[in-house]
Formats: sequence, C-alpha cells, structure tokens
Amino acid sequence: LFVDQPLAEGALVEAAPGQAHHIGTVLRRGPGDPVRLFNVRDGEWAATIDSIRKDRARFAVTTQTRPPAAEPECRLVIAALKREPMDWVVEKATELGATLIQPVLTQRSVADRANATRLTGIARAAAEQCERLTVPEVAEAQPLHRVLDGWNGAKLVVAMERSRAEPPRALPVPPGSPIALLVGPEGGFTAAELDDLRRRPFVVPAALGPRILRAETAAVAGLAALQALLGD
Ligand code: SAM
Repeated sequence: LFVDQPLAEGALVEAAPGQAHHIGTVLRRGPGDPVRLFNVRDGEWAATIDSIRKDRARFAVTTQTRPPAAEPECRLVIAALKREPMDWVVEKATELGATLIQPVLTQRSVADRANATRLTGIARAAAEQCERLTVPEVAEAQPLHRVLDGWNGAKLVVAMERSRAEPPRALPVPPGSPIALLVGPEGGFTAAELDDLRRRPFVVPAALGPRILRAETAAVAGLAALQALLGD
C-alpha cells in the first residue's frame, strides 16, 4: 500500500482515503493482520493493522522489507488519448517502470486535456499491484513544443511509424542513462511536428516494427524495449 507519510520502526500511520475500504471490505483484513507499506523516500515496510473502521485505518510499522529503490529515469511523453486508452497506458507504463508520464497536446491529438489527478490514482494503484516502490508522476498535459523547449537534454526516443529508423535495441544508449519515449496521437505527428522533432539535438527516431500500432500499443512496446536497453 502506498502511504505518503514517513515510514519508520514503531511509527503509526494513517491509510490514504479509499484504502480502509479496500483493506476491510475488499480484502477482508482486520486488526493485527499484516500489510506492506511503501513510499519513494522510505522503501517498503512490514506493518500490522492497528485499527480499522469503514473509512479510516491506522497501521503500526514494524521492519523495513525493501530499501528505497533507485530507478533509471525512463519518461513517457505521449499525445493525450481518449480516457480509456489513456488510463490503460498509465497503468501499463507504471508496470513497465516509467518514472514520469507527460501527456502532450499535438496538432492531431484527439483529447485536449488529461486528468492528472485521476491518472495519478491509476498509477498509484498499478504501483501497488506490481509491487513497485515508486509511483510515477503524471504531469498536467502541455503543448508538445513547450515540453520540447524545456527538455532536460536526455535522449528522447521518438516512435516513428513508416520510417527507416532503427529499432530501440540498436540505439546507442548506455545502461542506466536517462531516457524518454515520445508517442504520437492516433492520427500521427504532422509533417511540421516531425520537422521540428528532427531538428532537436536530443531526438532519436525509432521504429517499432513494420506494422502500424495503436498509440497505446506503441507506448507499451516502446517502453518494454527501452527498459530492456536500460537493463531494468
Ligand atoms: N495515423 C498514422 C498513420 O497511419 O501513419 C499512425 C499513427 S499511430 C496509430 C500512433 C503513434 O504510435 C505514432 O505517432 C507513433 O508514435 C506510434 N507508432 C505506431 N506504430 C509505430 C511503429 N511501427 N513504429 C514506431 N512508432 C509507431
């Protein structure tokens, strides 16, 4: 369970909203039962349920089970999709170790926003499910050019269909180096966007095979390929 409070031996911590219902009603756990708590700063800790009511639960923290994790930076920048595929992408990107998910608005984006609060909740649930100690930040959607203008210099692997680009496995990326994947909208990038991308020094085009993948499939395939490169 993700708990955004300091975890240390002997600490008593409150469950986040919604967790008490999940633990008590869905998982049918009660006082004295074991749980695992985690957050980015403190890693994973064993705890027991100290008290539980319908909408509140308190845990007594005992011992650390995993130290805080150092993860290679692997961002996903993706054109904002409709609600259902966007939710799916955030869940899968969390499972695949994305450290930040940045929705972007492109000329052919079908969505003009992404609900960062809802998507953060999905990322948190996915992190819990896959026993990941960190929860990726889901940033507010921004125009693509603004994200590119403020880019931190890490290699940005741009998934380009119908291109002669190399597959990600052929990219010159040393294991552990910061990296990001950019996936376009269902309608693809426009010619002007592709020109702009190709002029940026940090952009590396990559092909994900000869078939045209849905944007959400491209995100998952690309992240899996990058994680293989990063050795994570
Ligand atoms: N409408 C475009 C077309 O017909 O050419 C297809 C866009 S595709 C559905 C959505 C996004 O997924 C693309 O912008 C690209 O980033 C990524 N993508 C899909 N298939 C890909 C492939 N085979 N290689 C690399 N990227 C791909």
